[in-house]
Amino acid sequence: MLREAVRLIEHHQVAGMRRGPSGGLFVRAPDARPATRALVIFLEYIGTTAEDLMHARCLLEPAAARLAAARIGEAGIERLRRTVAEETERRHEPGIFAQDVPHVLVGELSGNPALHLFIDVLARLTARYAHATGRVPKEEVARGKDEAHSAHLTIVDAVIAGDTGKAEAATAGHLEEVTDWLPAHRGRRGGRKAARLLEEPEAKLAEVVAARIRDEIARRGWPVGQVLGSEADLLARQGVSRSVLREAVRLLEYHSVALMRRGPGGGLVVTAPDPGASIRSMALSLDYRGVTSEDLHAVRDAVELGTLERVMARRDAPEVAARLGAVIARSEGKAPVPAASDTFHTELADLSGNPVLGLFLRILTELWTRHRANSPTAAEPGPAGAAEAAHVHRGILQAILDGDEGVARHRMRRHLAALTAWYD
Ligand SMILES: [Zn+2]
Ligand SMILES: [Zn+2]
Repeated sequence: MLREAVRLIEHHQVAGMRRGPSGGLFVRAPDARPATRALVIFLEYIGTTAEDLMHARCLLEPAAARLAAARIGEAGIERLRRTVAEETERRHEPGIFAQDVPHVLVGELSGNPALHLFIDVLARLTARYAHATGRVPKEEVARGKDEAHSAHLTIVDAVIAGDTGKAEAATAGHLEEVTDWLPAHRGRRGGRKAARLLEEPEAKLAEVVAARIRDEIARRGWPVGQVLGSEADLLARQGVSRSVLREAVRLLEYHSVALMRRGPGGGLVVTAPDPGASIRSMALSLDYRGVTSEDLHAVRDAVELGTLERVMARRDAPEVAARLGAVIARSEGKAPVPAASDTFHTELADLSGNPVLGLFLRILTELWTRHRANSPTAAEPGPAGAAEAAHVHRGILQAILDGDEGVARHRMRRHLAALTAWYD
């Protein structure tokens, strides 16, 4: 059991086991890549649409560009220049841009690790959806690439010049154009058919095999319960050693993609993916990167205000109205409150209808919880605090039901600012 745990931790590169006299578990920088890929797969599995993705990007990326413009240094300028120069050179090559590299780099240069990781996840998923099209005329692709490239040049110039307002506006404008460009290729679970592994050279062989199996499952339409084959079948099909296959299976099991069932009629069985493991390793990785309360606040603000906007727009839909009513009844003490104290925010995110927002919010609250658990000084809100929170939640809901977006945003902002005080 311990060896298993060490292996999984090692896989996520949080710690390594050193042998010999001074051996033991040592800590190293966690690698966010496996969790990033797992999140991408999960979002695809639950049917995230291109529209959901672009909505989340529109919430996060303009904020990232603004921060990058404020914080960039000489080394960052150098990297941005190199990235756009590469894009200039390669823009006449066939195909769509494999990944929107400048977007992820601007996310990194924002200096906010949470923004960086989330933008990375969204850019990868957008690339998978864009690649899944294939029916777009060549001239249209070329035009789209030219437009994107000139937008990238504008954004990069503004970031380098430290023009925060222009960097933010140009990013928002560019993402709106991309959103308009994607609808032709939109569709629930549209990315599945041509979902392809974006193989990275540094990925371990077991990870590549796991990703390959995962993509095969996605291509088959994620048939939960179906047996993909026995270990012998898979060994033959994948052409790898037994130990590599077993490590790949452990990864699939860890992320609840598939599990190996022993005995007659056994084999690798497709399971329903569970984001829990990726949420925890994402939170772990962000914690290690020293994400600050200011960083979290910036991302949480964007996610929660985006949620609010969506819920307001959908508040008359019958199922949304019914659930909003239930939340209000509970906050007034007319219905039992669930054990987990503050589910208000995740419930609201789920009501937004955009699964990306709920997932990101869960990562942020997981971080919040980890910090509170590890901090000797963090004060639990206590019964008075819980009553106060319930009161504030009720106020936010009331404003939503009244259709008063200004007041709803005001109350949410005030509430989030108060929450940040608990973080450190
Ligand atoms: Zn772009
Ligand atoms: Zn709250």
